[in-house]
Amino acid sequence: MDISQTSDLWWKNAVFYCLDVETFRDGNGDGTGDFRGLTDRIDYLAGLGVTCIWLMPFYPTANRDDGYDILDYYAVDPRYGSLGDFVEFLRTARDRGIRVIADLVVNHTSAEHPWFQASRSDKSSPLRDWYVWREAIPEGASQSLVFPDKETSNWELDKKTGEYYLHRFYNHQPDLNIANPDVRDEIRKIIGFWLELGLSGFRVDAVPFLLETEGIAQAMDLDPHDWLRNLRSFLGRRRGDALLMGEVNLEYEAVREFYGDSGGDELHMCLNFNLNQALALALVREDAGALMHNLRAMPTLPKDAAWANFIRNHDEWSLDKLTEAERQEVFQAFGPKPDMQLFGRGLRRRLPTMLDGNQARLRMAYSLMFALPGAPVLFYGEEIGMAENLEIEGRMSVRSPMQWSDRENGGFSEAASDALCRPLIRSRKWGPSAINVRDQERDGGSLLIWMEQLIRHRREMPEIAFGKWSLQPIADPAVLAVSYEWGDRRSLLVHNLDSSQKQVSFQMASRPDKASFVDRLGEGGIDVRADGTITLVLGGYGYRWLGLI
Ligand code: MG
Repeated sequence: MDISQTSDLWWKNAVFYCLDVETFRDGNGDGTGDFRGLTDRIDYLAGLGVTCIWLMPFYPTANRDDGYDILDYYAVDPRYGSLGDFVEFLRTARDRGIRVIADLVVNHTSAEHPWFQASRSDKSSPLRDWYVWREAIPEGASQSLVFPDKETSNWELDKKTGEYYLHRFYNHQPDLNIANPDVRDEIRKIIGFWLELGLSGFRVDAVPFLLETEGIAQAMDLDPHDWLRNLRSFLGRRRGDALLMGEVNLEYEAVREFYGDSGGDELHMCLNFNLNQALALALVREDAGALMHNLRAMPTLPKDAAWANFIRNHDEWSLDKLTEAERQEVFQAFGPKPDMQLFGRGLRRRLPTMLDGNQARLRMAYSLMFALPGAPVLFYGEEIGMAENLEIEGRMSVRSPMQWSDRENGGFSEAASDALCRPLIRSRKWGPSAINVRDQERDGGSLLIWMEQLIRHRREMPEIAFGKWSLQPIADPAVLAVSYEWGDRRSLLVHNLDSSQKQVSFQMASRPDKASFVDRLGEGGIDVRADGTITLVLGGYGYRWLGLI
């Protein structure tokens, strides 16, 4: 296998880092993060080994849903700087070998967007049909609500024109009507605009809702999946190596459909919510069973497609795929108090607090996530072990300011961050005085330096991205062993989810042609016996990344 042939599929072996410009770094001292501040920290991200930044929405916004309610798709929120500042940031990132993708939020707009203002102004408005209007709530309308604490219906009555509009999210986020070809043209134009400025692709928000035609009155002149195919081919024509990473939180079988046919002609990647939730259960139980079961159920993807793996993201840790009993089991262990839970389906916490700050268990969890089939996605602050701030409402609890040092938290003063409604964490154990980048950069034993090494090794193991994976037969249910094979590259990644030491012995499904593995992360190696048997010892929460080098 020639590594040079893989560069067009850069995203398969990428290390993604999701951040919100607003909370990452304030460069001009006005109390809000901005592109100037982010640009100043590109070298930090390059040093960490990140290869692709995923920007949460940075467009002008009504800001009632942290930027996911957009007012203008062709501009930068003036609080973050100008379009010029954005381009300077993009150029600097590219100069350091870092690509940038951004959230594409086109299922809905803000209700204050000029398109919706025009649409709602009059039934005969030329933009009336850009949104989904009905005289009455349709029979059999979906009762499933994304935010059951705030909304009681997906339809809102507009008093002025006496009709109802569709909103799958908050009522201030009306859904765009994708049955309207003009809307689809506009979405292509938005994609084209940002690709032209240099983005390497998009994380597509709420894909199943975006393709949904429920409630749309007129017949759609093309199948919703044909529309996604059409978007993908447009993207490819404008920029051959651009990426579409989708947010598709559905069962595996349904997610598979969003990758398209066997050649892969819709999304390139999907965030793997199924595996993520199995990981939660496995961590709680200190037992690999749920993960093994999930990995076995994982559908085969088209050749040029991949999963994106994560532990925590910017939302609550949704556990909606687990059974009620399993979910309660995770709640009990990781967030027993009501204010740690959200919508009855998830946890609004970050991982280190859920693990009571246990460093060995935390590192094992990240090592495990990086070792699973797919590309890893980090959420800002995970590399230093940041905690959530339960003082901040709802899902925003995990979006507190980045902790750069004990004094500079995202560059925000305490007063400014209070004004942002993102108060700093005041706890001595979890606040910026205890957990920050500056201290960890100077401490060889810190989580940050450990993460940097983990990323280095992951990047140097393209077999995880491009190879064939298989589970190795391990008798001990606490231990998970995944092997990868790509050309003459072989690796074996073994994790002990339990706190006690384990010795495991197993026969590799196919015997490697070399007699010993080298431990990439630690000392020594492991011999393979003539019959293909391997014996190894793992400490409590131990992990070994073994390679035939
Ligand atoms: Mg600022």
